[in-house]
Amino acid sequence: MSRMPIYMDHHATTPVEPRVLAAMLPYFSEIFGNAASKDHEFGYQASHAVEQGRTQVAALINARPDEIIFTSGATESDNLALFGVAERYADTGDHIITCVTEHKAVLDAAKHLEAQGKRVTYLRVNQYGQIDLDELRAAIIPQTVLISIMAANNEIGTLAPLAEIGRSAREHGVLFHTDATQAAGSIPLDVQKMQIDLLSLSAHKMYGPKGIGALYVRRSNPRVRLAPLLYGGGHERGMRSGTLNVPGIVGFGTAAEIARREMKEQAAQLHAWIEQLFAGLQQHITGIALNGHPTKRLPHNLNIYIPGVESRAFIAGLKDLAVATGSACTSASVAPSHVIMALGFGEERAHCSLRFGLGRSNNAEQVAYVVELVARRVTELRTLLAA
Ligand SMILES: *Cc1c(COP(=O)(O)O)cnc(C)c1O
Repeated sequence: MSRMPIYMDHHATTPVEPRVLAAMLPYFSEIFGNAASKDHEFGYQASHAVEQGRTQVAALINARPDEIIFTSGATESDNLALFGVAERYADTGDHIITCVTEHKAVLDAAKHLEAQGKRVTYLRVNQYGQIDLDELRAAIIPQTVLISIMAANNEIGTLAPLAEIGRSAREHGVLFHTDATQAAGSIPLDVQKMQIDLLSLSAHKMYGPKGIGALYVRRSNPRVRLAPLLYGGGHERGMRSGTLNVPGIVGFGTAAEIARREMKEQAAQLHAWIEQLFAGLQQHITGIALNGHPTKRLPHNLNIYIPGVESRAFIAGLKDLAVATGSACTSASVAPSHVIMALGFGEERAHCSLRFGLGRSNNAEQVAYVVELVARRVTELRTLLAA
């Protein structure tokens, strides 16, 4: 059937797709120039490859190539967006709006800004993980400089109404940043239509390599300015110094190009498998419930609550399947997911939830097998508990 364990954790990372790897390989040792060394052919070739990658990444979100700033990944992009705006626009205001279910890269940056004396409003979400647009508009004050709301949640897949948020932000003259790490390559993104000013991306969540990402920074209407996190050679229009990761950028660009061409078809396929998975699990397991919104969700995400079955106990010793639990293990304790907690169902639900992230490497046969596997395991655990 296929290799074990079956990988269904594509929200954590994705394998580098063979076409991406093939495009990258020459840039490690044959075409190895520094893209900033324009005194010779080696540098020209590297620079050319970088500009092609920039164009490919820009096309995925309908941006201009010169609006793409390459970073080490979405963590850095999120930090650059928040710290960069907070510092550069300090004279305009000291207030930021974000949401309780954001990725830690946004939440922890926001907390650090608070420690520096900035003000942050954390919007709550409803039981589906959605913010309330009226609450968002009510939170905007004259000192608000930035709204940061993720495009798609990495745990429960809930999608944000980007165009509506963009419209509200623009009306109030506030910049709009979105962490689109999970959305990119899965759903269409258009920074013009959605009036997005800053957007974070990561290659390894869309079948590219780890350690490369980008921040889209709008250049006109309005022209967004950022204070850099890193100082040095002034690469990337002064916003991100450091020698460019040429093979990474080539891989990222290729992954973006493939996503742009194949996204629609792939999303339909993955969604069909998700439906198969959810229907199968519902048939075999009593009481399961969906975490997140039933329709406004990523096509390849399924996050389910299995009453009474602790996800950590569920995965313990489970060799054939790679899925994520609703908990984050820190060194000392197991903390319930802040995302599931924010839905308002309580701690038991957060400890008894599983996240499936399907991807290109999966197939219908695997889905059928996983339904059986999960059903068997749940029955085992429930029988144990009842005894
Ligand atoms: C994975 C992820 C990040 C972090 O991206 P890295 O490139 O691994 O730093 C940030 N935000 C979201 C929503 C993510 O899923």
